[in-house]
Amino acid sequence: MGYTAEDELLIKEKWDDLLYSCTRICKNDEDWNFIKRAFFLAKEAHAGVRRRSGEPYLLHPIAVAKIAVDEIGLGVKSVVASLLHDVVEDTEYTVEDMERIFGQKIASMVDGLTKMSGVFNADTSEQAEYFRKVLLTLSDDVRVILIKIADRLHNMRTLGAMPMNKQIKITGETIYLFAPLAHRLGLYAIKTELEDLCMKYRFPQQYAEIKQKLADTDANRREYIEKFCAPIKEALDRDNFNYEIAGRVKSVYSIWSKMQRKQIPFEEIYDLFAIRIVFKSLPFPSEKTQCWQIYSTITDIYTPKPDRLRDWISMPKANGYEALHSTVMGPDGVWVEVQIRTQRMEDIAERGFAAHWKYKQAEGDVDEFDKWLNQIRAALNSPTENAVDFLDNFKLSLYTSEIVVFTPKGESRKMPFGSTALDFAYDIHSKIGNSAIGAKINHELKPITTQIQSGDQIEIITSDNAKPKAEWLDVVTTGKAKQSIKNFLKRERQNNIERGMEMLEQKMQQLNIQLNGHVLRKIIPAYESTTKEELYTKIGAGIISLDDLEKILKENSGRKLLKFWTFLIPQKKSNTPSEEQKESAKTTNKEAHAQQFEVAECCHPIPGDKVVGYHDPLTDKIIVHKATCDELNRLAAQHGKNIVKEEIQWSRQKAMSYLVTAELRGIDRKGILMDLARIISGDFNINIREINIKSHAGIFEGNLSLYVKDVESLNAVMDKMRQVKGIESIKRTL
Ligand code: MN
Repeated sequence: MGYTAEDELLIKEKWDDLLYSCTRICKNDEDWNFIKRAFFLAKEAHAGVRRRSGEPYLLHPIAVAKIAVDEIGLGVKSVVASLLHDVVEDTEYTVEDMERIFGQKIASMVDGLTKMSGVFNADTSEQAEYFRKVLLTLSDDVRVILIKIADRLHNMRTLGAMPMNKQIKITGETIYLFAPLAHRLGLYAIKTELEDLCMKYRFPQQYAEIKQKLADTDANRREYIEKFCAPIKEALDRDNFNYEIAGRVKSVYSIWSKMQRKQIPFEEIYDLFAIRIVFKSLPFPSEKTQCWQIYSTITDIYTPKPDRLRDWISMPKANGYEALHSTVMGPDGVWVEVQIRTQRMEDIAERGFAAHWKYKQAEGDVDEFDKWLNQIRAALNSPTENAVDFLDNFKLSLYTSEIVVFTPKGESRKMPFGSTALDFAYDIHSKIGNSAIGAKINHELKPITTQIQSGDQIEIITSDNAKPKAEWLDVVTTGKAKQSIKNFLKRERQNNIERGMEMLEQKMQQLNIQLNGHVLRKIIPAYESTTKEELYTKIGAGIISLDDLEKILKENSGRKLLKFWTFLIPQKKSNTPSEEQKESAKTTNKEAHAQQFEVAECCHPIPGDKVVGYHDPLTDKIIVHKATCDELNRLAAQHGKNIVKEEIQWSRQKAMSYLVTAELRGIDRKGILMDLARIISGDFNINIREINIKSHAGIFEGNLSLYVKDVESLNAVMDKMRQVKGIESIKRTL
């Protein structure tokens, strides 16, 4: 056990290296001693343990501490916590020991780091969800997350020693969780390195290919960049800027992503590089003004693409990124992106936290350090509009078919992947679901139909007036929500039928009409329904109003016609009243009530038509059909005894016209319409309501609507029309 001489040598080398980095952060002996105590405890605790690569385990915490201080810019406490980060996880030491030896702050940081390791070691498909949850619980100290990123970066840098299955697991977590997290925290350089490392291990062949192609094209690119930059350099020198200008090639991973996304070969990636101008700003004018000054200089040389200007100085990105980006037309007709930023902006863009810390320290504002931590903490706890939603960057759903979301009080609930806010509402309680009108997802108002993501915090907004809609069945995915909605709709339909029936009966009472099958048969199609149930449901649900019920009943009853006409059943003279006569006498009694007759809807007889009466037992009315009516034939066949045996006569005629329609057919010729019109309105003085004629290949077909007094005059005019040259047939249709 313990360390070999060779180990000691390696450890000393790395430890000295770390100490050198710490000269930037240690202000006094206390700081130095704090770090040294942590180092010696870690050395003792991990003694004899080796990493898979064979090197002493201690080299890992040293490397993590170095990343924390060099690449993330963390301070003394973070270096201590980094050195101790695997002690509780892997050795006999407990969190209580840490508290006793290093104090409460370090103990809680180590505890947090241990918990996170637990998450990733647990072989559960829900680790991604727990990751988010752990992030939330740990957010009181963001340094824990930053150290975890440093830990992951070192593990990725040494991933080659791991077996294939571990490589896949670790790269998976890295690409979906750590790289986006690093990006969100402004650690651009770390994010890019994590992505490239993932690709190197997962897609080694493609990684090597792109690397090779970048190398092959390097000389040409350099040459072009030089040509592009020459006039800019000249102008910036003239203006006395203290600057650096260089071409920045895209990372292998981002080139590969673009090739995948756009399905294009390497050769078609036009933005392989960008030009970056980093300058040391003068105290006056403002950094922003100086950036725009350089922009102006460049666009005097190259024409800018108007829609490609990005001002992240006036409005920095949520992760703190500041720069001015523009795309200009370079030599040989190539669009080139130019990034303009100050040295301060460059540092922040590359190293995020570290740079923030450094610059705020330089200004002597010590509190800024904590202020920045608080900002990240706030973003983690309650993502708001200006802090990019943390989880947008996490592709958590790729891990599992389940997601974990949170109630406003922070209680977690598991939901199936693809769930909507409405599913969540029903998951809490069917009453909440039934009255849901919207949701606040991460404090942002969203429709209830919004699909929810792992880590979302959801507050359901309800209203007493809200109720489920049938469309909701297409929106929800959980069985519970579907069943609740179906139950509600079923209950509501039943209620609506009852309510609708009541409403219709009341209305009919007001109109003093008895509601029966016959009336229903008229109303149902008038309200575009097919069944009684549908009609009642629509009335009950308020979809149809009964305000026009009276009008509908009147229209259908043909009462208008009966204002001017009535029917008459002549009395037969007979000495011995037969059964037949008794029957007819009964019928005759009804002639006293003119309203007891009704003109049949099916055939629309007009005065003069030969008619037959049918006694409708439902309404106790006599429906008057044309004698030739098919419907009458059907009724006669099925309910022969209801056919009124006596001949029904038209009685009481007023000077009134009735609308009839007719179909025309014939051979088209010039002037035929004029001839017809002359006969109708000239010879017979009949009003034409409408005449339509369509001609096709020399044959015409048409419809004619006329107002006639009676059948006699109709027949006369039709006879006359048949004599018109070209007319082949005229047929009355109504
Ligand atoms: Mn570790």
